[in-house]
Amino acid sequence: MKIYIDGEFYDKENAKVSVFDHGLLYGDGVFEGIRFYNGRVFRLGEHMARLFDSAKAICLDIGMGMPEMSEALLNTIRQNELRDGYVRLVVTRGCGDLGLNPANCPRATVFIIASKITLYPADKYENGLHVVTCATRRIPHGALSPMVKSLNYLNNILAKIEAAQAGAGEGLMLNEQGYVAECTGDNIFTVKNGRIFTPPISSGALAGVTRAVVFEIAAELGIPISEPEMTRYDIYTAEECFLTGTAAEVIPVVRLDNRVIGAGSPGPVTKRLIARFHELTAATGTVIYS
Ligand code: PMP
Repeated sequence: MKIYIDGEFYDKENAKVSVFDHGLLYGDGVFEGIRFYNGRVFRLGEHMARLFDSAKAICLDIGMGMPEMSEALLNTIRQNELRDGYVRLVVTRGCGDLGLNPANCPRATVFIIASKITLYPADKYENGLHVVTCATRRIPHGALSPMVKSLNYLNNILAKIEAAQAGAGEGLMLNEQGYVAECTGDNIFTVKNGRIFTPPISSGALAGVTRAVVFEIAAELGIPISEPEMTRYDIYTAEECFLTGTAAEVIPVVRLDNRVIGAGSPGPVTKRLIARFHELTAATGTVIYS
């Protein structure tokens, strides 16, 4: 495995960042998770745009432009001779001293890992996930914008632990007002009366790249989609529910807090979306090997 760090490639054993890196000391940094299928990177432009927006929001100078970053990512995949997989691209504030002041970090650290990821067991894609509501709330806009895909995932991790302790496959996170935000690493959708619903970004969801793809597919299939504020009641009483994320792709949900959703098995709209999603991932994206 070849890992990119600041313009050089290293073997896995030698791919190391400093203990003085503020990404480690303070979670000061941003990242992206990006999939590639069949020799093409899916939605590279959208991931780059979000990465640079996240960096801008936290005053982090990445030290390279979007074309250069895209090329570094493609090169990392090429170095590993992969055609299908998952890339983790991380930009930290870089090395500094032991104080939190980012002004003492002269240069960002950039590393890129091209590998594989499996988020949920294969049978959950067939039969659907069980989800429980977590007590840990999504970070409020007033603390850190949930739009920033930062290296601070501790509250999502605490929610994930709660879900695991409850024996569920995933955890639902609410915002401070009690409205549905998203799951620990995925956006959430419901289907009812031929319409698709998902909470607005303002409820505390990350602006998921896969979420945006669902909007495109819905438009293509002529299914109305909207973003009302949602409560758990809306999910309990939905006909279908599913989650989206780069790593998760599109996965059905059949239970929330031990209430069976709809028929208790993945519904027809979810299945159509999954089929179309796979068509898009297989046939579109930035070509890696030309
Ligand atoms: N919400 C959170 C908190 C996430 O970390 C992610 C990405 N894993 C998503 C939603 C889904 O976003 P995307 O479709 O861009 O991967």
